[in-house]
Amino acid sequence: MTLISRRGFGGLFGASAVGLAMPSLAFGARPKVVVVGGGAGGATAARYIAKDSKGAIDVTLIEASKRYYTCFFSNLYLGGFRKYGSIGHNYYGLAVNNGINVVHEWAESVDNAKKSVRLASGGTVSYDKLVLSPGISLKYDSVPGYSPEAQSRMPHAWTSGTQVQLLRSQVLNMRKGGVFVMVPPPNPYRCPPGPYERVSMIAHLLKERNPTAKVIIIDPKKKFSKQGLFMAGWEKHYAGMIEWLDPETHGGLKSVNPETMEFVTDLDTFKADAACVVPAQRAGTIASAAGVTDGDWAPILPATMASKADPNIHVLGDASVASSMPKSGFSANSQAKVAANAIRGELTGSRVYDARFANTCWSLIATNDGVKVGANYKAGPEKIDVVDKFVSQGGESSDVRKTTYEESIGWYAGITSDMFS
Ligand SMILES: Cc1cc2nc3c(=O)[nH]c(=O)nc-3n(C[C@H](O)[C@H](O)[C@H](O)COP(=O)(O)OP(=O)(O)OC[C@H]3O[C@@H](n4cnc5c(N)ncnc54)[C@H](O)[C@@H]3O)c2cc1C
Repeated sequence: MTLISRRGFGGLFGASAVGLAMPSLAFGARPKVVVVGGGAGGATAARYIAKDSKGAIDVTLIEASKRYYTCFFSNLYLGGFRKYGSIGHNYYGLAVNNGINVVHEWAESVDNAKKSVRLASGGTVSYDKLVLSPGISLKYDSVPGYSPEAQSRMPHAWTSGTQVQLLRSQVLNMRKGGVFVMVPPPNPYRCPPGPYERVSMIAHLLKERNPTAKVIIIDPKKKFSKQGLFMAGWEKHYAGMIEWLDPETHGGLKSVNPETMEFVTDLDTFKADAACVVPAQRAGTIASAAGVTDGDWAPILPATMASKADPNIHVLGDASVASSMPKSGFSANSQAKVAANAIRGELTGSRVYDARFANTCWSLIATNDGVKVGANYKAGPEKIDVVDKFVSQGGESSDVRKTTYEESIGWYAGITSDMFS
């Protein structure tokens, strides 16, 4: 007798032959996966499910924007290290090379019982498995005085789009010797080192064009990611330019006034010439509309990234509670591959590998001065557990720092190709 493994069986006869794994599907019908959000998590998941199932799964990607501008490397654009166009990507490769049905619409709600997604335009799309990777929504009112209207005066530039261009233009137009105020968000938030890389890139720009300007950070946190590395870098490259105020020093941010550009704290009222305010965050709205959030974020089962609230929905990236992983593009991309593997296994009977995850967050402090922090992870019963970790060391040689920066350029090319090609 010839033994045919589950994988070999699917491979020999195609996915529809593995009918036992898909009792609800009509003969010959392909199982349907709908992915909402075509960013680091969603684009990767859609691509891997389509590519690895070789057409055995019908994949639809619902993404509001026709062009995805990465938040990763947006700070390098701010500092003048990248052109804005170089961080924009389209969905051509997903549609044409991978056969994904790309729908540029806003997904409004989910009918969990009927397994369908309702679009803002009124149409519905049905699924066997739904993947949500909608990123974040901003809690504007977490900063008193801040609002969607205020973001044109004090850009957050924390979601993809024109905000980061506006921020760069405002920094370039600061008066000579002016003050830039940065308000980082409270934990947990997208990209833990991001606010501090942003400060570094703005200081780099100011040092070149407006060297007597000052940067004040009004932080709601007592400590931050790669703090020692950033502070040493600021001292080395931007001495006397950057002042970081922790909550014990400023006593709390009481209000911001976008008209007067004032920041009222217990310590003082700071007047800015340009500013960046990043409010607190929560999962993109479709996650709560789908009933998979508990509070601000969506809890998941680490082995598959399936929602704890609905087994037919997987939540990836920033929207999920994927601790110990940080909310990063690298994490979202890594989680997407775990979810894609699990979904394909469930729908076609293909082999499911043990979940392994990885993340590295690179930050650029100044020209050729890159630092990184990262870890490898495995799925634990309750959370994603760290296997091993690493971080750049203080006092590394300039060659090491340059290599670290160059690694990040390679990573950017790799991840965007992994998402969109
Ligand atoms: C300044 C900054 C620097 C960063 N640097 C790095 C870095 O160096 N390395 C790194 O790994 N990460 C970095 N990040 C973090 C990274 O950008 C995010 O963690 C990552 O994008 C999360 O991926 P995601 O799939 O969860 O969400 P996103 O990539 O934001 O994708 C969500 C997508 O869903 C779409 N969407 C949302 N809701 C709907 C809906 N209802 N209907 C249709 N479409 C919808 C959105 O349009 C968006 O395209 C940085 C972030 C910032 C802000």
